[in-house]
Amino acid sequence: MRLQNKVALITGAGNGIGRATALLFAREGAAVIAVDIDENAGRATVADIQSQGGRADFYRADVAKDADCAGMVDFAEKTFGALHVLFNNAGIMHAADDDAVATEEAVFDITMAINVKGVFLGCKYGIPALRRAGGGSVINTASFVALLGAATPQIAYTASKGAVLAMSRELAIIHARENIRVNALCPGPLRTDLLMKFLNTEEKKQRRLVHIPMGRFGEADEMAKAALFLASDDSSYTTGTEFVVDGGITAAYVTPE
Ligand code: NAD
Repeated sequence: MRLQNKVALITGAGNGIGRATALLFAREGAAVIAVDIDENAGRATVADIQSQGGRADFYRADVAKDADCAGMVDFAEKTFGALHVLFNNAGIMHAADDDAVATEEAVFDITMAINVKGVFLGCKYGIPALRRAGGGSVINTASFVALLGAATPQIAYTASKGAVLAMSRELAIIHARENIRVNALCPGPLRTDLLMKFLNTEEKKQRRLVHIPMGRFGEADEMAKAALFLASDDSSYTTGTEFVVDGGITAAYVTPE
């Protein structure tokens, strides 16, 4: 078991990447604090972990709120005694996110509040807890759009993920001598609710698929396995990376037919 005796806090654990990761981390021996703004979804993840004999508890938080982030870290330490892995994963892709001309200021603001400030607040309260535990691993979910521009615009989302990647690099350097590693996970397009709600027609899906060398969307489980590597001691010399798991997108100029 690769996370034996570790405590992991995962935001956005009610669905998609966060849920798949919570289940995998628990199977690998971690005690999991599943955090989500959606109480039903988060509690369902916890129930599934417990039904498989794993250890988990739920904390409801909006990661854009300072007090909620302070509360989730406090809850993790009080419930399981320490915090070793912090997975700042919660994020949104707003349906009305478009190009700079068409995107409303409110859409930009809410996207930055959750996707960027949420990561900052997770670190603000999580890093002191990792220090108290003698070190640990922080994983921040960015995206391949932090590295590549797309003609199908989602300007607030793309800006937010660029910020997550830049913030992750700097955090990695600041904390490198404290036994705290920080990596950004950069998934390609996934078959999760977040993207499938945005690409809500077959035509929009096909428009994306042509750019993926592997010719398919990624799965949440495939991100969970990458997060497991970054969370565990297997990645003990890995920090400050843009850990890309994208079916080959960022390597491609022309994709196969
Ligand atoms: P998802 O929509 O399936 O799950 C996201 C979870 O986050 C949900 O349970 C939701 O309730 C929760 N959440 C939303 N706002 C929150 C808030 N303010 N506070 C706490 N929880 C909140 O999404 P997903 O595809 O699993 O995405 C997870 C992360 O991966 C996001 O940061 C997303 O931007 C990123 N990502 C996704 C894709 C993709 O194609 N799906 C690609 C690259 C990166």
